[in-house]
Amino acid sequence: MKNSPLPGIQISTDKEDLICYSFDASIADAAIPYAVAWPKNTDEVVKIIKYAGENNLAIIPRGAGTGMSGASVPYGDRCIVLSLEKMRKMLDVDTKNMTVTVEPGIVNGRLQKELEYLGYFYPPDPASLNVCTIGGNIATNAGGPRALKYGVTRDYVMGMEAVLPDGSVINTGGRTYKKTVGYDLRNLLIGSEGTLAVATRIRLRMLPLPEDIMTLLVVFGNPESSGMAVSKIISSKIIPRTMEFMDRLAIEAIENYKPTGLPEDAEALLLIELDGYPATIKKEAERVVDICKTLGGEAVVAEDDMARERLWEARRSISPALYHIKPTKINEDIVVPRDKIPSVLSDLRRLSEESGIMIISFGHAGDGNLHVNIMVDKNNKEEYAKGMEIVKKIFEITVKSGGSISGEHGIGMTKAPYIGMEIKERELGLMKGIKGLFDPKGIMNPGKIFG
Ligand SMILES: Cc1cc2nc3c(=O)[nH]c(=O)nc-3n(C[C@H](O)[C@H](O)[C@H](O)COP(=O)(O)OP(=O)(O)OC[C@H]3O[C@@H](n4cnc5c(N)ncnc54)[C@H](O)[C@@H]3O)c2cc1C
Repeated sequence: MKNSPLPGIQISTDKEDLICYSFDASIADAAIPYAVAWPKNTDEVVKIIKYAGENNLAIIPRGAGTGMSGASVPYGDRCIVLSLEKMRKMLDVDTKNMTVTVEPGIVNGRLQKELEYLGYFYPPDPASLNVCTIGGNIATNAGGPRALKYGVTRDYVMGMEAVLPDGSVINTGGRTYKKTVGYDLRNLLIGSEGTLAVATRIRLRMLPLPEDIMTLLVVFGNPESSGMAVSKIISSKIIPRTMEFMDRLAIEAIENYKPTGLPEDAEALLLIELDGYPATIKKEAERVVDICKTLGGEAVVAEDDMARERLWEARRSISPALYHIKPTKINEDIVVPRDKIPSVLSDLRRLSEESGIMIISFGHAGDGNLHVNIMVDKNNKEEYAKGMEIVKKIFEITVKSGGSISGEHGIGMTKAPYIGMEIKERELGLMKGIKGLFDPKGIMNPGKIFG
């Protein structure tokens, strides 16, 4: 930027840059920001935030923009998008205490690979792992297929350095996994969608790599039976590391987009993965196959790493495949108690039949977390309005089932109008009070969560 107010810091007001940073992976309307800044260290983050505060500009923290709820989309044009993508170093691997310290812009998949090479394991694995950043994962408390056995991002964050909206730097958490001293600010920042502070340095817990992995693909004659299998497997006291669900339309979409040899005549599939010691896995796999058989499911085992990787590639290409069909589809991310999956799947089928709108579901069925895709075209006003009606009905069904309107994508902008369906006024008031305490001027990621 010519005549930059912050010399030495990379900032752009070029139209091409502003457009590239005006949207994310959601359907939220794009908004052109005032500027985009790429800090290289905490000091530069502080300077940018202070400059924004002094000049009545808001800060929009941004990782890789893979968010599904518009949480990193600018709110009007008086915003600086603070892209953390250049702060991407792995700073320290402490094998004695099993921790790794990183900058926020490091890509999740890169961290996974580097740790695996050293014999360690960082379990949170959003399907976007080859692009999304650890900073974004923390701000959305990202999950992934392996959350079923290993938990979500929150379970791995030990400590964090963060910059507050007034430019001061805080340190939360620490080097120990256990700690009970005062309120837990670290956990408050996790999942706060960049509305309270910008994470600049993060200490994560890592685990030893599991000895072995076995991957099973199970084909079902109807989605409800696959939902029952999920519940039965868990209640038989087996916790697979993943139990991913996809319905027939999702399978068809993948095969049309990037053929991987999935059985196109299946009504539903479960991708089940077990890990641990080989003898234990073998026993568990036998039990899983038996349970699925009683529900009409037929299982095949991935014979080698290549076959396994092919199945995961298929799973990870669902989202791009669906965007290929309807680029402006509505993607919801509900989570319900596991035993409610079969009835919710029936409700979704009914909603689709009644409205004539295609609904495609897939997701982390082991956690009760379903990605429900309402296949509408935003430019077709009538169809889009029908889609939004369906969203409301889906949320009603979800809340009635004891579930939540977002399992992992967060509220951002797209779900802000619905937050009151789940969170009562008193609790919302407390949340807004916390926001006001951290950010009295309201400059940190405005328009998100509370609308
Ligand atoms: C194909 C696809 C598959 C996906 N699969 C999954 C999945 O399996 N599980 C899942 O949980 N999500 C999934 N997502 C959603 C998305 O990838 C996650 O929400 C991810 O955590 C966002 O990371 P990001 O780096 O792209 O963040 P962004 O989208 O850039 O930002 C997300 C939020 O984080 C904030 N933020 C970013 N960096 C910081 C920081 N350093 N400090 C403070 N706030 C910050 C932003 O302000 C925003 O509120 C998927 C998305 C896509 C496109």
